[in-house]
Amino acid sequence: MLLDNHGRKINYLRLAVTDRCNLRCFYCMPEEGLNWLSRTELMSYDEMLQICSLLVKMGIDKIRITGGEPFVRKDIMPFLTALSKLYGLNELTITTNGVLTAPYVKELKAIGVKSVNLSLDTLDANRFFAITSRDEFANVMATLDELLKYNIEVKINAVVMDGKNVQDIMPLVELTKNLPVSVRFIEEMPFNGDAHIYNGLKWDHVRILEEIKKHYPELKKLDDPLFSTSHNYQVAAYAGTVGIIAAYSRTFCGTCNRIRITPVGELKTCLYDGGILNIKDMIRRGDSVDMLTKTMMDAFGTRAKDGWEAEGLRPANNSVHESMATIGG
Ligand code: SAM
Ligand code: SF4
Repeated sequence: MLLDNHGRKINYLRLAVTDRCNLRCFYCMPEEGLNWLSRTELMSYDEMLQICSLLVKMGIDKIRITGGEPFVRKDIMPFLTALSKLYGLNELTITTNGVLTAPYVKELKAIGVKSVNLSLDTLDANRFFAITSRDEFANVMATLDELLKYNIEVKINAVVMDGKNVQDIMPLVELTKNLPVSVRFIEEMPFNGDAHIYNGLKWDHVRILEEIKKHYPELKKLDDPLFSTSHNYQVAAYAGTVGIIAAYSRTFCGTCNRIRITPVGELKTCLYDGGILNIKDMIRRGDSVDMLTKTMMDAFGTRAKDGWEAEGLRPANNSVHESMATIGG
């Protein structure tokens, strides 16, 4: 079992396969997009498979594929299929915006993907356009239908933004009345690629909960699964559940079991750190498996105790304003 220097188990990798995206969510990246990474800067599928295979041997048993948008990267399915065959990997999951995903759902089911996180901040097509700058609401809803049709567990991620989608909180909760989905409201974080100035958190987890309780006073607290980042609730007799993720307030660091690898191969042992080491560069210069293993073990052994410490350790010229598309969420 992989343990960090604070005794926390590490068994979960979030791998971002690209920084590119077909939406422009206003909390994530500017309207004009990012300075997209070149093909040579990106890890190749072979490199990603090599890293995942090593990490699974070291103790990782859950991998989430994210991005940017994973389905804009060419030939993603053969890569996902190869990953799904790694001996020792118990869970392969995906975070997607759902724009291109519907046609792949049947194949995802076939390779053993049991759970998908779908990002959806509103159930109103006009507000969807206002938030993402793209007219793709119908395609995202088609992905939701398809996921439910194939009995894949769905977690809907909704970032709560002052002045943008607060009116969507209740309709999203109401979605759980008949659908067996988990709707998770996420605090907005500063990782927006300078799309706008982050003026502090307006809707923290306490305020989001109060807002929901105003309309659903009978909201029931559920037991949170081990390592859960969300505080979970249910409206009595509803099919689905509601979660609140204190992504900015960082209430979950004490049980954090996750590491991240960015599209350029940077290992992050905390969402808020500035990158600890570059695994792709090590592979490209021919470092041995032993060297890779040792270097990563050293990184796990010097992990920040929480997101506040990790953020504080970033150099002054490297504050948290990169786009979430270059981290993976
Ligand atoms: N493109 C895919 C998607 O949107 O699902 C995967 C990558 S996206 C970066 C992963 C998650 O990060 C999404 O659920 C998105 O809502 C969330 N996210 C992006 N920027 C954020 C921010 N500034 N604050 C909070 N969550 C953010
Ligand atoms: Fe794209 Fe996901 Fe970022 Fe939205 S949150 S711009 S869908 S990477």
